[in-house]
Amino acid sequence: MRTIANNDFSNRRAIVRVDFNVPIDDEFQVTDSTRIIAAKETIDYILNQGGSCILISHLGRPSGKDPKLSLTHIVSKVEKILQVPVAFFGDCIGAEAEQATASLPPRSVILMENLRFYKEETDGDLNFAKGLSKLGDCYVNDAFGTAHRAHASTTIMAQFFKEDKFFGRLLEKEVNAIDKVMKAGEQPVLAILGGAKVSSKITIIENMLDKINHLIIGGGMVYTFSKAQGGRVGQSICEDNYCNYALELLEKAESKGVEVHLPKDVIIADDFSNDANKRVCKVGEIPDEWQGLDAGPETLKNFEKIVMQSKTILWNGPLGVFEFENFSHGTFTLGEFIANSTLAGAFSLVGGGDSVAAVKQFRFEDKMSYISTGGGAMLESLEGKTLPGIAALLE
Ligand code: AMP
Repeated sequence: MRTIANNDFSNRRAIVRVDFNVPIDDEFQVTDSTRIIAAKETIDYILNQGGSCILISHLGRPSGKDPKLSLTHIVSKVEKILQVPVAFFGDCIGAEAEQATASLPPRSVILMENLRFYKEETDGDLNFAKGLSKLGDCYVNDAFGTAHRAHASTTIMAQFFKEDKFFGRLLEKEVNAIDKVMKAGEQPVLAILGGAKVSSKITIIENMLDKINHLIIGGGMVYTFSKAQGGRVGQSICEDNYCNYALELLEKAESKGVEVHLPKDVIIADDFSNDANKRVCKVGEIPDEWQGLDAGPETLKNFEKIVMQSKTILWNGPLGVFEFENFSHGTFTLGEFIANSTLAGAFSLVGGGDSVAAVKQFRFEDKMSYISTGGGAMLESLEGKTLPGIAALLE
């Protein structure tokens, strides 16, 4: 892996593909700066070595040049976070853009306009990628969030830099965290898979079975397993057409020596709402008009034991409808268990969408070993796929 630590950036102009696809409100204010903060380490490193940074990114999904999705809106936020002046150029490609970046003094930063103003970006157009590669003299990819896309700036342009292409710090950290679970996890290795549906997690489960000792299944997926085993699930979310698959999966896990832990009890509600009536109920005995929305107390006790004895933990997906405060206890408590296990020496990786949101909501960010910044990219990594953006850097 060629990382930025393997290069001397002094007097070099690095094209840094960052993921500044941040949420912006109606007044064009950045409402969550996580992704900008995540790129700071790489940019700081290059600047401190006496290099300059040409930042390229996408923002949203514009069709054509949409002023609402101009990256100019985020310049002041980027300046505030990087604590250096940031120039802006109103295009990302072409002779004028090349001119603007050619005269960039050492230790300075320029942010180019939204890459997706050109459809060639998402098309992975070779000529467009070649044009982008002319903006600087080396390429650093630090956009883990789009590493699963074979877009011009994330994958295709890497081929125009033989040796001069590098993993940015964030990309390096993400890849190392995934490897720590998928390739070199200290045993026992535990995967906790929650969230809404079995159907969206199949490839992950299949891929994880070869790498783990324990599998906790939580959230809405539970009811497909429960129904498959002859249980009553009431109004709970349940994918009838995946019941057979659920049974096959349990058999497969057993044959591979993976212990599967399903909830024993759940919190049921008489409506899908925060204010619904609720009570504890055994899994498989849910009355017709009720539905399971959170993990129960006995379940949590059992999960605590498994989490505390694990040395490597992957968490993807909440244990219940944590967006409803009254049904967030299971997800919050699981977060506490993982935090405690991490404190006791386990490596914990939280990744893929809603569990990251939950960890942030419950303020466990500093208590996990690593929290992934990439939703889709993380999920595809867990599915065992080699991400095109990463493969392109390794070529
Ligand atoms: P996913 O994106 O597959 O990880 O799913 C996350 C979503 O699953 C969250 O929005 C949760 O509210 C939802 N979820 C978790 N448990 C349940 C449940 N028991 N019933 C319905 N939805 C659930």
